Amino acid sequence: MRTTWSLALRLLCCFLLVSFVPAQDESRPAKIAVRAARLIDGKSDTPIENPVVLIEGRRIIAVGSGLTIPKDAKVIDLGNLTLLPGLIDVHTHLLTEMDGTNVSLQDVETLKIVATESTAQRALLGAKLGREDLEAGITTVRDVGNSGVNGDVALRNAIDWGWLPGPRIDAATRALAAPGGQFGRLTPEAQKIIDQEYVILNGPDSARQAVRQALYDGANCIKVIVNGTPADVTLDEMKAIVDQAHTAGVKVAAHAIGDKPTRIAAEAGVDSIEHGYIIPDDVLKMMVQKHIFLVPTDGTVEEFLKMIFGKRQPTAEERAEQESWIRKYVEGNRDRLQRALKFGVPIAAGSDMYLTMPDQDRGQASLNVLDAYAAEGMTPLQIIHAATSNAAELLGWQDRIGALEAGKFADLIAVPGDPLRDISVLHHAQFVMKSGVVVKNAK
Ligand SMILES: [Zn+2]
Repeated sequence: MRTTWSLALRLLCCFLLVSFVPAQDESRPAKIAVRAARLIDGKSDTPIENPVVLIEGRRIIAVGSGLTIPKDAKVIDLGNLTLLPGLIDVHTHLLTEMDGTNVSLQDVETLKIVATESTAQRALLGAKLGREDLEAGITTVRDVGNSGVNGDVALRNAIDWGWLPGPRIDAATRALAAPGGQFGRLTPEAQKIIDQEYVILNGPDSARQAVRQALYDGANCIKVIVNGTPADVTLDEMKAIVDQAHTAGVKVAAHAIGDKPTRIAAEAGVDSIEHGYIIPDDVLKMMVQKHIFLVPTDGTVEEFLKMIFGKRQPTAEERAEQESWIRKYVEGNRDRLQRALKFGVPIAAGSDMYLTMPDQDRGQASLNVLDAYAAEGMTPLQIIHAATSNAAELLGWQDRIGALEAGKFADLIAVPGDPLRDISVLHHAQFVMKSGVVVKNAK
């Protein structure tokens, strides 16, 4: 009896510890009114002139043109800036950074990271990169694996508990994959290392078990690497994953490139296909029917060149040699994005940024994907929706983020100029607020 009581007491203490959430900022005023020149709400087609956003605590309570400002509200006047919802990046790897000049050796680079950096160290890297994202105006991310064993959950919790500044994180824990993960072929002796980064599937039962394990580990979503070497994740495994995840109310993101992997993902009914650099028309049509998002993790020619050469100035021949294949690759991405838009596939913005970029921190480098969408022919409004309301819907968080409207978390950014004319101004957020707390105000 005594043992039972002491155990019960200890469990209660544990519960209290787990559920204790420190306040993010005790200095946050009760009411804030943010004023600016115009506002793009993330959902509608037309901006609002002379907007006022009223905030109470963590949430927006009203948005409109020339609203009456309550006497007790603190006023933040952003002058001629444009207000938008905090941006959402649905494909991040905050716990991984590797040298971009070694593109052909990425599996070796991943191996090196997993073998030499503890999850704790990677979580601290995530703290740095997460802050860079937040300061660039990315207030929410979906972090899709390559985070050691649950390092993303640790980072998410630390940010949620106010231990450090960073974006709101939708965490996937380890990605589910076919034997080998994304390491290529390893010797039998080296197989153990795979489990430090991926959960390996061997049939539908193990796929269900992998989803249960991810949920137990604290995942908000499930990431699957459908492409494998030598074999892909099977349709039966994929169906089991989707069924198990959806039963628990959790979404599934599928890394899929090529005819067969994208078809497996779409037929199984995943929630998003990541990358999809090669994807046939009939799969795109299936995505429209099933409302499966495409997350085009694209780049511009300039960005790829910078990535490959780093800080080094290439010779004219070197540059021309790289540029010819990059142009072809980027043209292929443009073609599939245009086909997806033509059929009406919903698009959510995802950077897949995990490389070092010269002269850019992680936040700025992650915003390059928006420039790539513009170069591939998306309109500024389509791009903004992809990085706000569409992204929120993909996460299943459309009730809390992705738009500037009453009831949503007060995640706001403000940029100079008009993003509807030039999307690149999103690189210059001068004001960032997350959950009603001012993160940055350079105005
Ligand atoms: Zn990725």
